[in-house]
Amino acid sequence: MQERLYNFSAGPAVMPLSVLKKAQEELVCLPGVGASILEISHRSKPFEAILLAAQDNIRKLLNVPENYKILFLQGGALTQFAMIPMNIIHNTDSTADYIVSGTWSKKAASEAKTQGKINIVWDGKEEGFRRKPVDSELNLNPNAAYCYITSNETIEGVQWQKMPETGNIPLVCDASSDVFSHPVDISKYGIYYACAQKNAGPAGVTLLVIRDDFVDKSGDDLASMFSYKKLAAANSMLNTPPCFAIYMLKLVTDWLLTDIGGLDKMFKINQNKAALLYDAIDQSNGFYRGHANKEYRSIMNVPFRLPSEELDKQFQNEAKEIGLITLGGHRSVGGIRASIYNAMPEAGVIKLRDFMLDFAKKNG
Ligand SMILES: *Cc1c(COP(=O)(O)O)cnc(C)c1O
Repeated sequence: MQERLYNFSAGPAVMPLSVLKKAQEELVCLPGVGASILEISHRSKPFEAILLAAQDNIRKLLNVPENYKILFLQGGALTQFAMIPMNIIHNTDSTADYIVSGTWSKKAASEAKTQGKINIVWDGKEEGFRRKPVDSELNLNPNAAYCYITSNETIEGVQWQKMPETGNIPLVCDASSDVFSHPVDISKYGIYYACAQKNAGPAGVTLLVIRDDFVDKSGDDLASMFSYKKLAAANSMLNTPPCFAIYMLKLVTDWLLTDIGGLDKMFKINQNKAALLYDAIDQSNGFYRGHANKEYRSIMNVPFRLPSEELDKQFQNEAKEIGLITLGGHRSVGGIRASIYNAMPEAGVIKLRDFMLDFAKKNG
């Protein structure tokens, strides 16, 4: 059998090995059921128990207060780019504020415009999306229904270290690429959501933590599958949910709670892993150039460039030869990107760091 390599893909991305093994072990016959998770009804007791356990795990991990619901939706993060304004500001006089700090928030803002009136309160494009704004730069509307942010810009590797202070305006956050990587204070958010396929499971499910008053804002004119109110009332089971993806999400959150020991521990591990790569960048005398300004460096996605595009290519080719794969930057920006999500073992990061030092010595 082919051995597993260290996979630095930005998404879908590396999963914990123990989770994959558990899923493999149970795939043909789920214990106590006698059939595969792929074969049973979403209305069956065993599946219901899996869905409830996944919600319970998420509630524990993120310390979700009572007045929030946890939803499992389909259509990826991109569907939420439209569903959020569709449910919260569409057909109302309300507007929303958007902070554009990278490719994903830019896309979120452009999709939101199809549903309602939004204001871009900060845009980092001119500066090449290398940082987040400081609070004093934000031109917030005190009556905005929400302020939209992207906690970690997956493509540019730019992450908020401290969430912006928005007073009474609730944050709505796309945490697709850093959910479960560090502890969060959910009470600041009207909606905190993430597609699963970066840091929480396989593609196919998007988890949404949503405050009750945000659930209640859905207009009655919305079709059921687009209405937070109707989806919440049916506990995400208006129709067949992505059963297998929810099952995997349950296994990943079990792993975070039991094997890792919660998000404080996960955060420390992630900080240490990220420091290994950023130290290699900083000590390379300019051979490696990181994209993000230092204060906004992501602990999940580490994009950087070498002195030439030829060296970028050579770096990826030689890395691949020693089992370090999918290190290419996003097609829109090029260069190198190492995504080091929760499930990337420290040993993989150390191997990449050692390769970086070696490559710089030979080619610098
Ligand atoms: C990957 C990603 C998305 C897109 O997710 P889809 O599930 O493919 O729609 C959106 N936002 C962020 C921050 C991402 O990393």
